[in-house]
Amino acid sequence: MPWGPDMHDVILVLDSGSSSLKFAVYEMAVGSAPLSRLAHGQVEGLGAHPHFTAFNAEGHRLDDSLLPVDGSANPHEQAMGTVLAWLQAHRDGTHRLVAAGHRVVHGGMLFASPVRIDGEVLLQLDTLSSLAPLHQPPALRAIRALQAKLPELPQVACFDTAFHRTQPEVAQAYALPRSLSDEGIRRYGFHGLSYQYISQTLPQFLGEKASGKVVVAHLGNGASMCGMQGQRSMATTMGFTALDGLVMGTRCGNLDPGVVLHLIDQKGLSPAQVSELLYKQSGLLGVSGLSSDLRELLGSDTGAAQEAIELFVYRAVRELGSLAAALGGLDALVFTAGIGEHSAEVRQRICEQSRWLGIELDPQANAQHGPCITAAGSPVSVWVIPTNEESVIADAVARVVLGSVA
Ligand code: ADP
Repeated sequence: MPWGPDMHDVILVLDSGSSSLKFAVYEMAVGSAPLSRLAHGQVEGLGAHPHFTAFNAEGHRLDDSLLPVDGSANPHEQAMGTVLAWLQAHRDGTHRLVAAGHRVVHGGMLFASPVRIDGEVLLQLDTLSSLAPLHQPPALRAIRALQAKLPELPQVACFDTAFHRTQPEVAQAYALPRSLSDEGIRRYGFHGLSYQYISQTLPQFLGEKASGKVVVAHLGNGASMCGMQGQRSMATTMGFTALDGLVMGTRCGNLDPGVVLHLIDQKGLSPAQVSELLYKQSGLLGVSGLSSDLRELLGSDTGAAQEAIELFVYRAVRELGSLAAALGGLDALVFTAGIGEHSAEVRQRICEQSRWLGIELDPQANAQHGPCITAAGSPVSVWVIPTNEESVIADAVARVVLGSVA
């Protein structure tokens, strides 16, 4: 089944996790029209039970199949082959794949904007794998798998860290010996593609205030906040890794580093065990003992589930206050991502506990998910804006490779 009647050049957007490869197909803009998504899908369960699904622009399922377990050392290669074969099968002759863009977690200090990938860039990205050992390697495997299959296809890397390179030096520094910060142990910040998308849409909602002091709360399984001024990142809650800051689905967020020392010295945990604990067994899951999924916790009446939500909200309120302090004030707050876009209850609790900042919630607007959820005349306006990281990548590819100004 083809995607639509008017197909031309298309861009493939890829987001690789340790056990999944998500993809989206964007049609190139004609004139100044924005890029539009024709299809999307994923291969999940890589290495174990690979499962391919694909959907068209309206969200109708086009494909749903279990793939054979190939047992190769690089399951992303199989996944990439599946995606490319599917693209080929769904072509109707009027469009062609002209470039691909990848979400890459870490651009380190080297990359402050998307970059076209060549051999040298790939080697530089390899050196950053040690800064994000769980997240960087899958993206690099996907890039190499695509290179192997389509060596001539231009590929672009888009970084979750890049948006935060505008933070002032003091916001990026840890109070560690200078030799360590010179080595790259500093606050990078993440979720940058989401923040970039929101920052671009701010004028549409906030008008002139878009360039004011705005905190964006990206609350999903991974959660962080970013304080912006002039639509640029000035401070963010995640630091050297995506563990810092808010309580997340399974990650602990802000933690005294003394706890890590205690776990190693007194409890005898290995580095791998500490990593597993902090990344996968903490956060909402660890505190509730029930689930990392906020919806499940909201539906549960156990004390532990309620405590997990209370801690999530408490940490968000504290970090919001901290970012307002870093910005020297607050004009607007934006909620985005799964929890931010969909949970009126969590938004309400964060806003009510942040009244001192000048937030006057409009409960009815909040229940209807906005876009503006504060009362008329509220000194700080609060908004619900859906994020779209994929479209940031597609736009970047069009700009970097194809010179599009759309
Ligand atoms: P990821 O970081 O994996 O992209 P998402 O942005 O999809 O995560 O957010 C997932 C979180 O959003 C989960 O905790 C989920 O419970 C929560 N969520 C999604 N929809 C709702 C909803 N309608 N009400 C409350 N929470 C929701």
